[in-house]
Amino acid sequence: MKKLALHWKILIGMVLGLVFGFVMLQIDGGKGFVSDWIKPLGSIFVKLLKLIAIPLILASLIKGISDLKDISKFKNIGLKTIGIYIVTTVIAISIGLALVNIFKPGDGVSEETITKLTETYSENSSVKAKIAEASKQMDSGPLQFLEDMVPDNAVYALSNNKLMLQVIFFAIFLGISLLLIGEKKAAPLKDFFDSLNDVVLKMVDLIMLSAPYAVFALLANVVVSSDDPDILYALLKYAGVVVFGLVLMIVFYCILVGTITKKNPFWFLKEISPAQLLAFSTSSSAATLPVTMERVEEHIGVDKEVSSFVLPVGATINMDGTSLYQAVAAVFIFQALGLDLTFADQITIVLTALLASIGSAAVPGAGMVMLVIVLESVGLPPELLPIGLALIFAVDRPLDMCRTVVNVTGDATVSMIVAKSVGKLGKPKVKNWDDNYDEVK
Ligand code: ASP
Repeated sequence: MKKLALHWKILIGMVLGLVFGFVMLQIDGGKGFVSDWIKPLGSIFVKLLKLIAIPLILASLIKGISDLKDISKFKNIGLKTIGIYIVTTVIAISIGLALVNIFKPGDGVSEETITKLTETYSENSSVKAKIAEASKQMDSGPLQFLEDMVPDNAVYALSNNKLMLQVIFFAIFLGISLLLIGEKKAAPLKDFFDSLNDVVLKMVDLIMLSAPYAVFALLANVVVSSDDPDILYALLKYAGVVVFGLVLMIVFYCILVGTITKKNPFWFLKEISPAQLLAFSTSSSAATLPVTMERVEEHIGVDKEVSSFVLPVGATINMDGTSLYQAVAAVFIFQALGLDLTFADQITIVLTALLASIGSAAVPGAGMVMLVIVLESVGLPPELLPIGLALIFAVDRPLDMCRTVVNVTGDATVSMIVAKSVGKLGKPKVKNWDDNYDEVK
């Protein structure tokens, strides 16, 4: 397997994991075996990726900013990033709305299926937890997100993966202050973060050595914990519309890469593919972030000044796949329950799905929590919420895997566009895990 490119190794691991999962489903006690003996391997891998996310954001953002020659450049990068993120998200939601209105997947769902899904899932603890979490988020004021972005304790923020935006805020603040104390005084701290950044990227290389085995474990576990195939079949049209929309988004990114950055889209897809495959296997853009950063910087050639800001911010606020899914799911639920949505309602969906995708955490299943907010904004009565979620719950995990791929690809695309616009898209500089191995052997 040594000479095979990483994405092939990961892909083989995924296929074997799926096959293994299906085989274990047929064997008595197979499910238990996978969750006792296989699942932990995947969980350890995801933990390792999460372990290095905060040090990587901190080191790379501080290094990126302190390398800038003037701060106005950072403002430029920041505004462009946020602007492009909003535009791509609105496009994603519009594609979702167009498809769900054209194909009307909800019209075909029979009463029988609705009853079956409602009976199976509306009392499900996970559905209830998502509704409860959404209502907590809805109670907060309009500027709550700004308030939440500012940490009152740097050490606490650094100790919590969920507080990524606070870490970004702290790193930007520190980086800018570092620029302002002058080069000579800043040098030791700058060198420290520089070196930390290299070390963490090396850790990504090392962790990735186990990726093919880890995705095997992750996918085998997804298969054994998935739902009854009959239920999945009933939702095939809905899932098909979401997946079709997600594929269109990938095509859209390829067009952007080809036309704006003038790079070959197939080359882009090939270089970013390990991150996409991990996004698919882990369903978490936050866990994938270290790999996305490594691929974009070393294999695509985006300068750290750009990627160190665009990617962590993107992982938390830019979720094109999630927002497309929210638009399709919201309209699907209304169609299936025989409720009407006006044109104004659909515009409301665009706005709330945009805000919801910004507010969604980059972890598995987060999109469904924010979907509750989208549904309420267009007037789905609270007593129908559990039924609405029950309708789509069975296929949520596979769709989550697919939308996370789009979320990650969108972040990578935008980082290339921003880099190109500020002259920071250069040549790839690939590093291997064993670059200095001989010296230390
Ligand atoms: N799992 C997605 C992500 O991490 C969020 C979601 O759509 O649920 O990007």
